[in-house]
Parts: sequence; structure tokens; C-alpha cells
Amino acid sequence: MKISEILKENEVTISCELFPPKKGSELAKARELVREMAALKPSFISVTYGASGGISEHTVDLVNEAQNENKVPALAHLTCASSDRKKIKEVLKQLQDKKIENILALRGDIPADLDFPLPDQYHHASELIEEIKAFGEFCIGGACYPEGHPEAESMEGDIDNLKRKVEAGCEFLTTQMFFDNNILYNFLYRTLKKGIEAPVIAGIMPVTNVNQIKRILSLSGTMLPQRFRAIVERFADSPPALKQAGIAYATEQIIDLVANGVGHVHIYTMNKPDVAGAILKNLSEICN
Ligand code: FAD
Repeated sequence: MKISEILKENEVTISCELFPPKKGSELAKARELVREMAALKPSFISVTYGASGGISEHTVDLVNEAQNENKVPALAHLTCASSDRKKIKEVLKQLQDKKIENILALRGDIPADLDFPLPDQYHHASELIEEIKAFGEFCIGGACYPEGHPEAESMEGDIDNLKRKVEAGCEFLTTQMFFDNNILYNFLYRTLKKGIEAPVIAGIMPVTNVNQIKRILSLSGTMLPQRFRAIVERFADSPPALKQAGIAYATEQIIDLVANGVGHVHIYTMNKPDVAGAILKNLSEICN
């Protein structure tokens, strides 16, 4: 099913995310993770495409596992910074063959050691979106950044570029993680004012271990509210307590979003079905 239809038909949706393994030898374990995640019955499962600008050979396999083997709608991420046009077409053909209908079209991070863009590469996600639209009947989503993309010179300019992306054919947007809902409400106000009407799915990251926090701190521009910092300081030395607090914090963020009319939420579940399960259990009556 197309994600645009899922968002239209349901006031509240909760989706989950997985990242594929680097090695083919870990694929069986990754498929098991998909099965565990699918058993939680999220609105859809998304599978990332590499990371830090890398490509992925296993994204197609895992979206196939979610959609065709476990009957949960799937969203394949696809980045173009590390792939040329030929590679992109190959992946689109694989997705088409497996009848995968949804793609999150991304530029990807620019690898530090590579010249970008080369003549046979797309410069921006909007160009990739145009290519996907010309290729076939996919429902296409894109990324957006409530605190501004790190490369953007201004929030205003970033939202202008986002509008270009939507005009190129993006039917929904998923946000970068944020830890203060007011940042999202402010962003939604600004995007609506610019005439961006594509539905926005709020990206929530349950922070359940110290390594994740280090990674978030290394991302420029992610605001960590004092309330969040206090949790990290208090529970950093106790992994079970930090996990419980991280799940509670994410749950509370989602409840506040739904209460304020933001009904579509994507949980960055980071290959942790237990964390996804705990949050969905907390929301069982809210997301009914
Ligand atoms: P773009 O939309 O191309 O924007 C990138 C920058 O270029 C922005 O600053 C924008 O303002 C500017 N820009 C855009 N269009 C124009 C234009 N026409 N002219 C001038 N400037 C322009 N990375 C992965 O490697 N794999 C993943 O699976 C993955 N999944 C993600 C999922 C989500 C929901 C999010 C939020 C991010 C994800 N990322 C992933 C990270 C993402 O690839 C990076 O944030 C990347 O730096 C930007 O990608 P984009 O698609 O937003 O790029």
C-alpha cells in the first residue's frame, strides 16, 4: 500500500525503522529483526540505505521481507550522493520487480573523501525525485529538518529548497529527530506559511544508550532541552534506567504530538524491536 494512502486513511500512524547489515552473512539475523518488528504491526517499516554516504546492497532484501513476506507496508530509503545514475536505476528496477511502492528519496551525506557531484550524479534529492517519478509509479517521500539542514545558510532558504522538493513530486516528508516538540510546531507553521502541504511525519528517536547520545551530540544543530539533559546526566551510568527513561521520554513526546494534531509519527527504532514494542504498548489506546 502507498504511504500517501496510509496517511490519508488514518488519523494516527506509527512507523518503525531498521538499518540493513553491512555484511551479507548478517542478513538472516536482519530478516529476523524485520519479522519481530512486523509482529508489532506498525503502520509501515522503513529500511535505511547505507549511512554516512555509503550504499547498501541489502535494503531491497529487507523491504521485500517486510512487505512481501510479513505483509507490513514497506518504505525503501534511497540515497544518491554515493551512487551514479546507473546504480540508482538498477535499484529502482529491483524495487519495481519486488512491487515495492514507497521510496524515501534522499541525497545522502557527502562522503568526505569524494568529489561531489560527479557529472553522472544527482546534486539534490529533488533531482532524484524527478528521476524516480519518470521511472515508475512510486509513492515518494523526502526528508525535512525542523532545526534546518546543517548545510543550509538559513532556515528560510532550507524551507524554500524543501518546497522545490515537494514540487518535484514528494508526497510526504519525514523529519529529522528532534527532542523539543515546540521546534516541530514552529517548523510546521513556517512550512504551511510557505504553502507546503505534503503531510509531515514527525521523527522521534528513543534514546536508550550512551553511544546514541554521543552520536546525537556530534550532529550539529540538534537542540537538547534541559529536561532531556537531566535524564542523561542522572541515568548515564545505569543502562537499564537510561533505557526506561528514554522510552518514557519518547512516549511523552508522541502523546504530546498526537494531542496537538500531529498524528503521523516515525520512530527511529534503530533495530530494537523491544524498544519499539515498549513504546507501542505505552500508546496502545492512543494509537488505536
Ligand atoms: P537535499 O534535500 O538535497 O538537501 C540537502 C541540502 O541541500 C540542504 O541544505 C538543502 O537546503 C540544500 N538544497 C536542496 N535542494 C537545493 C537546490 N535545488 N539548490 C540549492 N540547495 C539545495 N542518510 C543515509 O545515508 N541513508 C538513509 O537511509 C538516510 N535516511 C534519512 C531519513 C530521514 C528521515 C532523514 C531526515 C535523513 C536521512 N539520511 C539518510 C540523512 C540524509 O541523507 C542527510 O541529512 C543529507 O545530508 C541530506 O539529504 P536530503 O535528502 O535531505 O538532501
